[in-house]
Amino acid sequence: MLIILAGPSGTGKSTILKKLFSEDERLAFSVSHTTRPPRDGEVDGREYHFVDDATFDRMVEDGAFAEWAHVHRRRYGTSRAEVDRLLTAGKDPVFDIDVVGADNLHRAYPDAVRVFILPPSLAKLEARLRGRGTEGEAMIQTRLANAKAEIAAAPRFDYLVINQSVDEAAASLSAIIRGERHRASRYDDLPQRLLSGEEIA
Ligand code: ADP
Ligand code: 5GP
Repeated sequence: MLIILAGPSGTGKSTILKKLFSEDERLAFSVSHTTRPPRDGEVDGREYHFVDDATFDRMVEDGAFAEWAHVHRRRYGTSRAEVDRLLTAGKDPVFDIDVVGADNLHRAYPDAVRVFILPPSLAKLEARLRGRGTEGEAMIQTRLANAKAEIAAAPRFDYLVINQSVDEAAASLSAIIRGERHRASRYDDLPQRLLSGEEIA
């Protein structure tokens, strides 16, 4: 099961995910490629694969991406190899991507669950973005401007979670994932396997 998470920059996606990953070992973060520079504390291959423009160009030409998009004046993409690697390992991959990427990935994987994380208010979103202290003023303005268009796309998602408190938002996301794991359409073959005498649990 693929889980697609989107929401404006600074809304708290990474913070919520960190908590979830520590609680659910079936979930695994899909590490994207990006042309943006690493922030202090970010490690190549953990938060992102940090690549230059030429490398990103080559990957686009080679068809290496399941989806990619221009976001905040940089490029970000999900490699097919990353999705395959996580699925082969029996993981439920989690994607932290923008709304364009979410649409494209959902087209490629229609069973993917799409969750949009909303901030409690625009004022709190700005305070969080500034409080994180990772972007300069121009990039903060770009991200706040883009936030409005992103928020307008929220109704296209399957679920909305408001990140007022990290604990509550993480609990809601966890409940969504737990519920989705029980969706009957994900187990088309189970009744037949049970009827043929197999033990399925
Ligand atoms: P995103 O991944 O969506 O860009 P982050 O997870 O980096 O956002 O969060 C942005 C900032 O807001 C971080 O400094 C984080 O500690 C803070 N933050 C996240 N969730 C909350 C919350 N519920 N209340 C207060 N601050 C939060
Ligand atoms: P940041 O620079 O704050 O890490 O991420 C900026 C934005 O890029 C976020 O909205 C994030 O979800 C999005 N993003 C990260 N990885 C990808 C990706 O692989 N594809 C797409 N389309 N967007 C991504």
